[in-house]
Amino acid sequence: MSDNKKAIIIGAGPAGIQSALNLAESGFDVSIIDEQIGGNYAVAGSLISNALIYLSYLYSSYMNKTTKFLDHVCEDNSFNFKKAKKYVESVSAKLKKNYSDDLENSGVNYIKGTARFNSENSVIVSEEENEYELEFDYAVVATGSRGMSNELSSSGKLITIRDIFELEKIPSSIAVIGGGFVGAEFSAFFKRLGSDVIIVEKSNRLLNSFDAQISKKYEDSLKKQSVEVIKDAEVDKVEKIGNKCITFLKDGNKIESEEVFVAIGRKPSLDNLDIEKAGVKLDKTGKPRLNTKLRSSNEAVYFVGDCTGLGMLVNWAYRSADIATNSITATGKVFQRHVLPRVLYIDPEIAYVGFNEDDAKEKGFDIGVIKYNFSDIEKSIILGESKGFLKVIYNKKNKRILGCHVIGKGAAQIVSMFSVMIQSKVSIDSISDYVFNHPTFAEVLSDIASKVK
Ligand SMILES: Cc1cc2nc3c(=O)[nH]c(=O)nc-3n(C[C@H](O)[C@H](O)[C@H](O)COP(=O)(O)OP(=O)(O)OC[C@H]3O[C@@H](n4cnc5c(N)ncnc54)[C@H](O)[C@@H]3O)c2cc1C
Repeated sequence: MSDNKKAIIIGAGPAGIQSALNLAESGFDVSIIDEQIGGNYAVAGSLISNALIYLSYLYSSYMNKTTKFLDHVCEDNSFNFKKAKKYVESVSAKLKKNYSDDLENSGVNYIKGTARFNSENSVIVSEEENEYELEFDYAVVATGSRGMSNELSSSGKLITIRDIFELEKIPSSIAVIGGGFVGAEFSAFFKRLGSDVIIVEKSNRLLNSFDAQISKKYEDSLKKQSVEVIKDAEVDKVEKIGNKCITFLKDGNKIESEEVFVAIGRKPSLDNLDIEKAGVKLDKTGKPRLNTKLRSSNEAVYFVGDCTGLGMLVNWAYRSADIATNSITATGKVFQRHVLPRVLYIDPEIAYVGFNEDDAKEKGFDIGVIKYNFSDIEKSIILGESKGFLKVIYNKKNKRILGCHVIGKGAAQIVSMFSVMIQSKVSIDSISDYVFNHPTFAEVLSDIASKVK
């Protein structure tokens, strides 16, 4: 038997896989337990959503450019969910194969099953009909998150990303319940396919974690695309009557649509883990109490990825796995959650990194704000996409960049550059020293520096 320390990883999504590979590289004996490799990520998460979004882009550009031509030569030119499923499954299979190969090459023991805690240093593993105990020196919980759609009362089946492929055809109209990230991306998805879209949001603005000015611009763009937005509207229940769905709001109003897509948020997935047996303490909201290294009240148990409740993004899955495993292997890395960038592939594209204006003020920074229109970026002019807006927030005291918020084509690329600068603590007045290719979105940096007061 090897003298190496034993680590078990519960969950084989990106956070679990990254933790397993890191610890295997550091000489641990690692077992990773999950019914499937790839996690929610490869079944009903980011990978699936982004592959679908890509297909909706293909479809809408194809439809826009060739509608007239197709009217004359084709009979059935509609988006086909069964074909889309095949494509998305092939994307998912490639990722799963990469993950499996990586695990095998790193000597990680993959156990196809589930795990629940049995004590502070052991779990019970269930593999088909087999159950046994496995002890650990360290455990990393990477069990992801689950959608909250079952918390919505409905007399029939509502659509989530999990069952989108069951659609027989493009819905003529769809109510999207929830105006957060997933709601925004799937509203754009159905709009590209040609559905009439109504977004129903509980709070008083869409994308309410984004900078207020950016979410206002997003709402304005929805108006122009004839997407109806109903805010301050809490859904009471949905009833399916024949081929129609009626969404009843608590204020007495109702919305009729052919289908309803639910995107009302996600929760850390901690059920069936018998977490209390591990001595892991939860906070008032039911999330694990973690220190900055993501260690729980049981010093041998760490949490990574969505199940931390601290971030629900793939970049967080990978980053949190590095933080936790660096702590286990004593190489240490602190975590700065606000530097995680975020992109939404909606129309127009939106991305951000760092604090928004309200957050930065609330944190007590003396802030400077630079606003910039895309009509000043040559790359945008050339692409005929000059309707964008960019906002940079910086600390007037030391000129450090605090946040960047962009709406318009190229948003993700611009934000990626700011992400590097925020993490490298580059001061805003020094960015004029950099030289970029022309024409690129990067050139905006030189201009921005000249606006610092
Ligand atoms: C519709 C949608 C769109 C998204 N789009 C984006 C995007 O554009 N960009 C982005 O960055 N993120 C996006 N995300 C979020 C991203 O998918 C998640 O942040 C990511 O999958 C989290 O990875 P994870 O490893 O923490 O968990 P998961 O990928 O959820 O994996 C967790 C795994 O743990 C397993 N598990 C659970 N309990 C047990 C147990 N007791 N024993 C063994 N195994 C267990 C599960 O079976 C699962 O396989 C999106 C999510 C959704 C739902």
